[in-house]
Amino acid sequence: MERKRRIGLTIFAAGLAAAALLALAVAKVRTGAVGDAIALIGEARTGGLTLVLPDAVKNVRVREALVPGRPIVVIDPGHGGHDPGASGVSGASKEKDLTLAMAKELADLLQQRGRVRIALTREDDQYLTLEERAAIARHLRAGLFLSLHMDSAPNPMAKGATVYSLSDVASSVEAARFAAAENRDDTALSSEGDASVRALLADVALREQMEQSAGLAERMLKRAAGRFELRPRPHQFAAFHVLRRAETPAVLIEAGYISNGEDEAKLMTKEGRAPLVLALAQAVEADLATRAGH
Ligand SMILES: [Zn+2]
Repeated sequence: MERKRRIGLTIFAAGLAAAALLALAVAKVRTGAVGDAIALIGEARTGGLTLVLPDAVKNVRVREALVPGRPIVVIDPGHGGHDPGASGVSGASKEKDLTLAMAKELADLLQQRGRVRIALTREDDQYLTLEERAAIARHLRAGLFLSLHMDSAPNPMAKGATVYSLSDVASSVEAARFAAAENRDDTALSSEGDASVRALLADVALREQMEQSAGLAERMLKRAAGRFELRPRPHQFAAFHVLRRAETPAVLIEAGYISNGEDEAKLMTKEGRAPLVLALAQAVEADLATRAGH
């Protein structure tokens, strides 16, 4: 009995010592190896992309909701500054101006309705890289990210709106080509030091992000159907870096073809854009409400 207790105590003491050693080891890893890895990632970033981010983020104004603590919707007017985007068939419109006008209308409407906070990646005619746009969404921990664009095609008959959601497999050759063109200014991403580590950690989150993005796209198209002309297959999938890097449910909306006279005329007026703007606002609110509910 006595002997057993002594052995028990010895085992207990040995256990304590092991626990202490383990704690020491953990602490060492925290301040040592892992800490170094984090520092390295930080250095890689200051050498590359992250240096330019604070400026883009600093200029962003967040519009408050009626109730505090609501999720932030980041609206991204495509193109800007020296990048005009597509040109309208009439010669009187540029994609960068139409996306900005529409983004402001959507922001104003959402603000009036008061259910979400809103931020625009740009509020004037300035150029931002895709990485800067996505960084704004990440920095604000956006609940949703919407990138607004106007389509253009060689076929003047092409018309109607399309919503693209993030995927690693494109839904068509055209969608893949479009994503490749949109991703063009993102060459810096491949040189990022932490890309592989992040890829491993983020895989599950990425699947969820894709699913939620697809759900948002479907919701938007359901709201818009019958009120605004859509393309025959309006939900497309493609690997857009700007959507992926936003690290939140994200869609890219092509409001219509400004290479088509009818679509361009409609997209050049506030009244013409209004039904789509309303559908987007309603879908955004419904989407965030659903996700807040569980
Ligand atoms: Zn565009």
